[in-house]
Amino acid sequence: MIAENIASFKKELPPEVTLVAVSKFHPAESILEAYSAGQRVFGENRPQELSKKAPALPSDIEWHFLGHLQTNKLKMVLPYASLVESIDSLHLLEAVNQWGKDNSRVVNVLLELHVAAETTKQGFGEDEILDILFRADSFKYIRFCGLMGMATNTPEEETVDADFARLEDFFLYLRDLFPEYEDFKVLSMGMSSDWRIALAHGSTSVRIGTAIFGERSAECNNSSRSW
Ligand SMILES: *Cc1c(COP(=O)(O)O)cnc(C)c1O
Repeated sequence: MIAENIASFKKELPPEVTLVAVSKFHPAESILEAYSAGQRVFGENRPQELSKKAPALPSDIEWHFLGHLQTNKLKMVLPYASLVESIDSLHLLEAVNQWGKDNSRVVNVLLELHVAAETTKQGFGEDEILDILFRADSFKYIRFCGLMGMATNTPEEETVDADFARLEDFFLYLRDLFPEYEDFKVLSMGMSSDWRIALAHGSTSVRIGTAIFGERSAECNNSSRSW
């Protein structure tokens, strides 16, 4: 089933859109099944889980980290993540920059914009992201690759549509404002329930868990990401 799901996404997504297979809470066998179907980009949201899975799985997998990240967990995540999609505070950004300095590595990141109605969701406001990008030069060990966002968790399509429109508008505004930031080209938005709406708003990267791997256990399927 996993291989069929991967194949059907590959068929439906425009070739320039990245499919991130969100494998959190799913075992290595499931990841290998997707891998055998040609999938190479996977998403995880818990540091410990990533640090266990990554060394045990094929080294050409590109791991994206998508979860709330505490600064004391950086060493479980940054050695493995090719992209940290969920930078949601200045404190975290500064700590990641320091880790890059200490380890002589430039870390690829997305800045998470908070657009959803739920206050439990993480992320920056537009003004905070502007402040950071105006002084991007002071983060020498960070490569700013774009924006990530999550829509409000609701069946009302208009709300989801408005959330993604806001992400799209701000992304295009930043691209215009900072044409010299050539790496700033990823707009990561869209999950199993709303990726079609996200694509209509210019998403360049969709993060799909359930629609590829099936349901996670109820306890873990907590959209507030409170762990
Ligand atoms: C779990 C998760 C996803 C995938 O969610 P599905 O609804 O299972 O597709 C995408 N993005 C983030 C940030 C997540 O935590």
